[in-house]
Amino acid sequence: MQRIVTYSPSFTVVPTHECFNRCTYCNFRAERGASWLSRSEAHRLLEPLVGSGVIEVLILSGEVHPRDPRRAAWFAMIVDICEVALSLGFLPHTNCGPLSLPELKALQTVTCSMGLMVEILSDRLSESVHRHAPSKAPELRVEQLAWAGELGIPFTTGVLLGIGETELERETTLETIARLQYRYGHIQEVILQPYRPGRYETRCTDGLSEGELLEVTCQARQILPPEVTLQIPPNLVRGLSPFLMAGAHDLGGIGPVDVVNPDYPHPVPEGLQEQLAKAGWELRRRLPVYPHLYHRVPPSMHALLSNHLSETDLPIENFLKLHQVDQAVLKQDHR
Ligand code: SF4
Repeated sequence: MQRIVTYSPSFTVVPTHECFNRCTYCNFRAERGASWLSRSEAHRLLEPLVGSGVIEVLILSGEVHPRDPRRAAWFAMIVDICEVALSLGFLPHTNCGPLSLPELKALQTVTCSMGLMVEILSDRLSESVHRHAPSKAPELRVEQLAWAGELGIPFTTGVLLGIGETELERETTLETIARLQYRYGHIQEVILQPYRPGRYETRCTDGLSEGELLEVTCQARQILPPEVTLQIPPNLVRGLSPFLMAGAHDLGGIGPVDVVNPDYPHPVPEGLQEQLAKAGWELRRRLPVYPHLYHRVPPSMHALLSNHLSETDLPIENFLKLHQVDQAVLKQDHR
């Protein structure tokens, strides 16, 4: 195995912090009435980043209820921001909660990949941390991943760990993701995100210990198919090496601020590179879409994709070797 770990040079744009859900662990949401980003504000935010090395624009939004009359305007804002990102040469990746099928289809034309955490698929948690978060209903999350699979959208998902789930719930959640991947072949990575309490937050739980998180990493590597990369957020663990050895080979999008965990600053790539090199690992940049799913990116974005490829040092052959993926498996379209 080559000792290579990847990350995506990324900048996060938040269309709005307004969210109709109330997850008890949330550090991000604001009440109705919070500001929405306009197309010109998004342009002003992103334009200075041209030529800075940023490749991915992550559009991460709070949610407006599907039956709220403002939903269409909220969705149009997200499409607008994707278009602005594309016009400036960035690759948009969205994470805006569950979308309707027509919304998914529309967003597919202006993104290279999308994401939605499944968190933990548990009806029990729907009565505790997700009691006031209808979007976190397990069946809605699974349906979203299946729709994305049917549409062939390169997709990122993940589990939120340490929010009061049981070992069995973790296992069945990972098994469900694996089943969806065997069926559709569109899941590129699974984020193993530990719950870490914010400074001003009422503590939801104590979270997982580093040892427990490591056990889940090993478990995830056993359950998920080899072409699914495991991602560990470098700002939420103390030491990376054990997680890399356990099979988590990606550090996610790294930018100036982790907007979901603002109390846990991202390390700078240069510092990470140095730290990883001491442990015998090489840090490399990647795109927000993984190489074996390039063919599923809309053709209108192919030129942009190949422009950015030269910045990644991660051609497909290296990726395949890196993850010891059987090319025959990848060539087979699961759909
Ligand atoms: S859905 Fe996301 S933004 Fe909304 S309350 Fe839950 S964690 Fe926060």
